[in-house]
Amino acid sequence: MSRFLNEQYRAMEAYTPGEQPRDMQYIKLNTNESPYPPAPSVVEAMTGEQVELLRLYSDPTAKNLKERLAGLYGVKPENVFVSNGSDEVLNFAFMAFGGQGAVFPDISYGFYEVYAELYGINAEKIPLEEDFFVDYKKYCGKNKLVVIANPNAPTGMTIPVWQIEEIVKTNPDSPVLIDEAYVDFGGETCLPLVAKYDNLLVTRTFSKSRCLAGGRLGYAFASPAIIADLEKIKYSTNPYNINRLTLLLGEKTVEAEGYYQEKCAEIQKTRAWTVEQLEGLGFSVLPSKANFIFVKTDKMDGGELYRKLKEKGILVRHFTNPRICQFNRVTIGTKNQMEALIDTIKEVLV
Ligand SMILES: *Cc1c(COP(=O)(O)O)cnc(C)c1O
Repeated sequence: MSRFLNEQYRAMEAYTPGEQPRDMQYIKLNTNESPYPPAPSVVEAMTGEQVELLRLYSDPTAKNLKERLAGLYGVKPENVFVSNGSDEVLNFAFMAFGGQGAVFPDISYGFYEVYAELYGINAEKIPLEEDFFVDYKKYCGKNKLVVIANPNAPTGMTIPVWQIEEIVKTNPDSPVLIDEAYVDFGGETCLPLVAKYDNLLVTRTFSKSRCLAGGRLGYAFASPAIIADLEKIKYSTNPYNINRLTLLLGEKTVEAEGYYQEKCAEIQKTRAWTVEQLEGLGFSVLPSKANFIFVKTDKMDGGELYRKLKEKGILVRHFTNPRICQFNRVTIGTKNQMEALIDTIKEVLV
């Protein structure tokens, strides 16, 4: 740290991303990326000509992408925001709407806490229930920025849309942000509520179900007024927040919806198979609707299992928070990758 860093950032703890090791070829099941490539039409869109066009700025209004997203999801372009990864829209939302404080589960996406600290927002963390469920009643009537990932991370567990509606209804004076990063793997979207409530903000990403984590593209749905607020923050920080190539690939991705639905179905099938195998080996697995599962076994400490798998070339995500340190979060890869995982677990558990 230099002696120049502003006082308010000195004690701040930054977000720790999952490892992206370069030292050997791992089976990478630690950051919930897709094991599949983008659709062929997306790959083919990346031409030398497009790279040459990088001399021009990208479209700050992201008009084409917004129109395509609006068309696919049955909303108006004024209901759509697009961002440099969904982390950026989360960042903007905390910046824009955290004034009355924020509230989110104690075990959830680690970035919520970081953004709260970044903006000096008073954050109330509500413990998940004993069985890792979110008790929606504890988020009703807060009138603070409510932030809930549905499905939640790292548990993969969902909260029903009617409970989200209760939260939205009882917090009329502040936005409720539902992070649907994993909704395409079997969750239920609350998007239809956007037409009904002006305080609901739904965020999504191309990183997981759209095989584009490295492209950095996220989006959000909300009332036109909330979208306008987010645009104001964007135009005050980085108007060209999404590069030309990513915008183009995003448009092509939306057009290839069928391909991605197939891949999501495949991942759900592989998830079911993996859960069955792990339960057969005596693991407990939380009920997941995401492209990952959260698992533990009485036969080995969570941290030890993480290290043993890593030695054998399989990377999963382990968290040191005492409440969940016996668990590992395992991304659902291809069937072959999951077979390798199961074989390796059998090896290290004996
Ligand atoms: C991965 C993830 C995000 C952010 O993804 P981006 O790559 O920034 O789009 C947001 N929320 C949750 C819960 C995530 O797991």
